Amino acid sequence: MSVSVAEEVLGCDVADIDDFVTWSEWALARVGFRPSNALALVALCRDEIMDPFEAALSATWGRPFDVGALGGLVLVGRTGLAAALSHAPGEDGRHRFIAFCFPHIGIDADGTVGRVQRRGMLRASSACGALVALRAQLTRGEVAGAIDPDDVEQSLLSRIIGSSVDLGRVPSLVELTDLARTIAVADLRRYVDLARAAEPVDVAYVSGLLVHLPDARDVVARVEAHVLIDEQRIELPH
Ligand SMILES: [Zn+2]
Repeated sequence: MSVSVAEEVLGCDVADIDDFVTWSEWALARVGFRPSNALALVALCRDEIMDPFEAALSATWGRPFDVGALGGLVLVGRTGLAAALSHAPGEDGRHRFIAFCFPHIGIDADGTVGRVQRRGMLRASSACGALVALRAQLTRGEVAGAIDPDDVEQSLLSRIIGSSVDLGRVPSLVELTDLARTIAVADLRRYVDLARAAEPVDVAYVSGLLVHLPDARDVVARVEAHVLIDEQRIELPH
C-alpha cells in the first residue's frame, strides 16, 4: 500500500517515524528542551508492535518513563507522575517533561482500518485491539459499567473514553483513536498539575496517531505539539 492510500483513508498527511523524531528534536530544541535536560514520558499502548516507535523515541530522547496503558490511556495518576518528576533533570532549576501520547491504528493491505498483519500470523488482527473492542461495545449500545477487577484497564478505557462518546453516533475507529489521543493528553496534563506542587515544571505535549501499514511500516499522523513553559503555551507546528 502506498502512503497516499493511507493518507486518503485517514484524511490527513502522514510522516515517517525517523522524520518525525528528527523534527521533534529540532522543534523542541528551539524552546529549550534537549535530551540532556528533559525526561520523556510515553503514553503508548502495551502492544508489542509499539516497540519500534518507542525505540526510535528512546534513541533520541533517552530511556522514557512509561505512562501508557491499553489503548494508550494514561492511568498512572498523580503518584506515578510524582515519581517521574523526581527522576526529571533539573540542574538549571526547572524540570522538563516531553510527553509523547500516541494511540495506534492499523491499516491492512486492503485498506481496512483497524487491522494489522503481525509476524508469524497468517491473518490480520486488530490494532488497536482495545479500541476496536471499545467501539464494538459502543456499537452494541452498551454503556460503561463498574470497574472490572479482572479487566481493570479495559473497563477504565470504556468508562473514560465511552463517557465522551454520544451513543447516538458511534465514532469511526479513526475518530475514536483521535479521541483517545486528546483524552490521554488531558489526563496526563491533569496528573502533572496534581504532582507538581510548587515545583517548576515545563512540559512539551506531543501527540498523534501511530499508524501501522503493511510490511511492518509505521508512520505518524495528526501530530499536534505545544509546550507549557511557566504556564505559557507555545504551539509547535508540525
Ligand atoms: Zn493497542
